[in-house]
Amino acid sequence: MSTATTTPRAAVLREAALTVCGRREGKTKACNSCLRKADAAVQLARGADVNTRLLPRIADILCGSAGQPCAACWDKATTLILELRP
Ligand SMILES: [Zn+2]
Ligand SMILES: [Zn+2]
Repeated sequence: MSTATTTPRAAVLREAALTVCGRREGKTKACNSCLRKADAAVQLARGADVNTRLLPRIADILCGSAGQPCAACWDKATTLILELRP
Protein backbone atom coordinates (compact mmCIF):
# COMPACT_ATOMS: atom_id res chain seq x y z
CA MET A 1 0.00 0.00 0.00
CA SER A 2 2.71 2.47 -0.86
CA THR A 3 1.51 5.17 -3.17
CA ALA A 4 4.25 7.78 -2.81
CA THR A 5 7.26 5.97 -4.20
CA THR A 6 9.43 8.24 -6.29
CA THR A 7 11.09 5.47 -8.28
CA PRO A 8 8.88 2.65 -9.43
CA ARG A 9 10.11 -0.67 -8.16
CA ALA A 10 10.28 -2.14 -11.62
CA ALA A 11 12.57 0.63 -12.81
CA VAL A 12 14.89 0.21 -9.84
CA LEU A 13 15.05 -3.49 -10.45
CA ARG A 14 15.73 -3.03 -14.15
CA GLU A 15 18.62 -0.69 -13.46
CA ALA A 16 20.02 -2.97 -10.80
CA ALA A 17 19.80 -5.97 -13.09
CA LEU A 18 21.66 -4.07 -15.78
CA THR A 19 24.43 -3.29 -13.34
CA VAL A 20 24.66 -6.94 -12.42
CA CYS A 21 24.54 -8.16 -16.01
CA GLY A 22 27.02 -5.56 -17.19
CA ARG A 23 26.18 -2.26 -18.79
CA ARG A 24 26.97 -1.87 -22.41
CA GLU A 25 26.06 0.67 -25.01
CA GLY A 26 22.71 -0.15 -26.55
CA LYS A 27 21.95 -2.79 -23.96
CA THR A 28 18.61 -2.14 -22.30
CA LYS A 29 17.75 -5.45 -20.69
CA ALA A 30 19.52 -7.81 -18.38
CA CYS A 31 19.27 -11.56 -18.77
CA ASN A 32 16.87 -13.54 -16.59
CA SER A 33 19.58 -14.91 -14.38
CA CYS A 34 20.88 -11.44 -13.54
CA LEU A 35 17.34 -10.18 -13.08
CA ARG A 36 16.77 -12.79 -10.41
CA LYS A 37 20.04 -11.98 -8.67
CA ALA A 38 19.29 -8.27 -8.77
CA ASP A 39 15.86 -8.88 -7.30
CA ALA A 40 17.37 -10.70 -4.35
CA ALA A 41 20.01 -8.00 -3.91
CA VAL A 42 17.48 -5.18 -4.04
CA GLN A 43 15.33 -6.86 -1.42
CA LEU A 44 18.34 -7.32 0.82
CA ALA A 45 19.43 -3.73 0.37
CA ARG A 46 15.99 -2.41 1.19
CA GLY A 47 15.75 -4.22 4.46
CA ALA A 48 19.12 -3.10 5.78
CA ASP A 49 20.86 0.02 6.95
CA VAL A 50 23.69 1.42 4.92
CA ASN A 51 26.26 0.26 7.40
CA THR A 52 25.22 -3.32 7.84
CA ARG A 53 27.31 -5.98 6.22
CA LEU A 54 25.39 -5.82 3.05
CA LEU A 55 28.29 -5.83 0.66
CA PRO A 56 29.59 -9.37 1.25
CA ARG A 57 26.09 -10.79 1.15
CA ILE A 58 25.17 -9.08 -2.07
CA ALA A 59 28.50 -9.95 -3.63
CA ASP A 60 27.82 -13.53 -2.68
CA ILE A 61 24.40 -13.48 -4.31
CA LEU A 62 25.80 -12.02 -7.50
CA CYS A 63 28.65 -14.51 -7.66
CA GLY A 64 26.58 -17.48 -6.64
CA SER A 65 29.51 -18.43 -4.47
CA ALA A 66 29.41 -19.83 -0.98
CA GLY A 67 31.01 -16.95 0.83
CA GLN A 68 33.91 -16.42 -1.58
CA PRO A 69 32.72 -13.90 -4.16
CA CYS A 70 35.24 -12.93 -6.84
CA ALA A 71 36.63 -9.43 -7.30
CA ALA A 72 34.30 -8.63 -10.20
CA CYS A 73 31.25 -9.42 -8.10
CA TRP A 74 32.54 -7.30 -5.23
CA ASP A 75 32.77 -4.43 -7.68
CA LYS A 76 29.25 -4.98 -8.95
CA ALA A 77 27.87 -5.27 -5.44
CA THR A 78 29.55 -2.00 -4.49
CA THR A 79 28.08 -0.24 -7.51
CA LEU A 80 24.68 -1.72 -6.80
CA ILE A 81 24.61 -0.55 -3.20
CA LEU A 82 25.64 2.96 -4.23
CA GLU A 83 22.88 3.01 -6.82
CA LEU A 84 20.28 1.76 -4.39
CA ARG A 85 21.07 4.32 -1.75
CA PRO A 86 18.51 7.08 -1.57
ZN1 LIG B 1 23.13 -11.39 -17.18
ZN1 LIG C 1 31.89 -13.52 -9.17
